[in-house]
Amino acid sequence: MKKPAKAAIAGHAAAHSHSHDHKHCVEDALAAAEQLCAAKDLRFTPLRRRVLELVWSSHKPVGAYALLDQLRNEDLGSAPPTIYRALDFLIEHGLIHRIERMNAFVGCSHPGEAHRGFFLICSDCGNAEELEGDGLSEAIATAAQRRGFTAREMTLEVTGLCADCRKD
Ligand SMILES: [Zn+2]
Ligand SMILES: [Zn+2]
Ligand SMILES: [Zn+2]
Repeated sequence: MKKPAKAAIAGHAAAHSHSHDHKHCVEDALAAAEQLCAAKDLRFTPLRRRVLELVWSSHKPVGAYALLDQLRNEDLGSAPPTIYRALDFLIEHGLIHRIERMNAFVGCSHPGEAHRGFFLICSDCGNAEELEGDGLSEAIATAAQRRGFTAREMTLEVTGLCADCRKD
């Protein structure tokens, strides 16, 4: 990992463009989470909401320590175990994803849909863009099945340079 996850909290770049109104991404993500939790009869507690909002503070994956740092001074019952449980909840219900290679979290751009996304991670700006890879995940599942292996989780992480960074 080239850049500390901590920097991600302050970041404000987008997956598609370096300048867009990221406020809308955050609003959409929070609204989608509210709907999903209401539909599944799940409690979208203030802490879960706040953690989701912080993960969505940019399109760069955010590390757990950066979240802990941020929440330390907020009054939401933010002991580390509570925050980890909130992260687990958000992952379990598909609202965020863990980027394993960075040990960091990024908001899901289409929660509630059955999907096996894959990520394009820019090693320059740190943005992680989630793409649908239906054909791709099917190909992997089929290859696994031929080995008698049932694929359960799949997160493909592709690193490289995004279009914006290639221009610079
Ligand atoms: Zn955005
Ligand atoms: Zn997703
Ligand atoms: Zn980039």
